[in-house]
Amino acid sequence: MINVSFDFDSTLDRDEVQELAQHLIEGGNNVWITTTRSGHKTDNSDILDVAHRIGIPMKHIRFTEHQNKAKFLFGFDFHFDDDPYLRNRNDYEREQRVYRISRSSKSKR
Ligand SMILES: [Mg+2]
Repeated sequence: MINVSFDFDSTLDRDEVQELAQHLIEGGNNVWITTTRSGHKTDNSDILDVAHRIGIPMKHIRFTEHQNKAKFLFGFDFHFDDDPYLRNRNDYEREQRVYRISRSSKSKR
């Protein structure tokens, strides 16, 4: 069993990434969402809808309140993100594996 984290915007909001997350959940792995969004001030219904649909429990959704995401990711085996700079921040890349989701490819709808 592995602990996997997904960014939401431009990552888990995409169909093919949701498919990957769903496969991981069905395989018995722990899947989380780590977003720099605020949990209070923003309408996060899009995140809650996706989480509910693919089976990510509410307690596995973390809002960093615009803080650097890297420090929230220790202890995770993988993190998927479209942010190309994330892996260069702090010491995160030495400890963890960040997979970059390409910004250019689009979901097929
Ligand atoms: Mg993003």
